[in-house]
Amino acid sequence: MQFVDSEVDNVYLWKIGSVAPADFFSYADTWLELHPITDQVAWSDSIWFKGRIPKHAFIDWVSARNRLLTRDRLRSWEMLVPSICLLCNSQDESRQHLFFDFPFSFEFWFFFSSRAYLSPPLGFEDLLRWMKDPSRNSMHCSNHEVSLLSFALLIWKERNNRLHSSSSRPAQSSSRRYSRLFGTA
Ligand SMILES: [Zn+2]
Repeated sequence: MQFVDSEVDNVYLWKIGSVAPADFFSYADTWLELHPITDQVAWSDSIWFKGRIPKHAFIDWVSARNRLLTRDRLRSWEMLVPSICLLCNSQDESRQHLFFDFPFSFEFWFFFSSRAYLSPPLGFEDLLRWMKDPSRNSMHCSNHEVSLLSFALLIWKERNNRLHSSSSRPAQSSSRRYSRLFGTA
């Protein structure tokens, strides 16, 4: 091993991306290099609006990214879990099925639509885009947004309740509970 004498101490230089090396470390620049800012998604304002309820916004954000641990996703990772839906025990569990297609959800959408005089689309991304469409039904108001966005948490909690405690509530009781909580009756 050969040592080279130098009158100047060695220094670390931090090089991030294509910029010139610097003698200081920036957490902010490193974070942005590892997690670059992408274009804002069309549904961002539908979830992260002023007056949102944090627990609703979080579950809606996870749902919008299709990151909920639904059984179709678990099985796509080759995990040995049943494919059957915990809520209806007749079809495979997926985001679309949980939130829109199975009878419990369908009853909710009928309940909400009939009382709020709205006709939201029955698909997650379509729903979020619809909520920001200024040309849609004039009955729109922020309370309806809050109510709609709370549904994902309601249904996900019911699903998890059935998974972990083997108890269940009928759709009508959840609809009545929903009505009391958000005043949509
Ligand atoms: Zn089902």
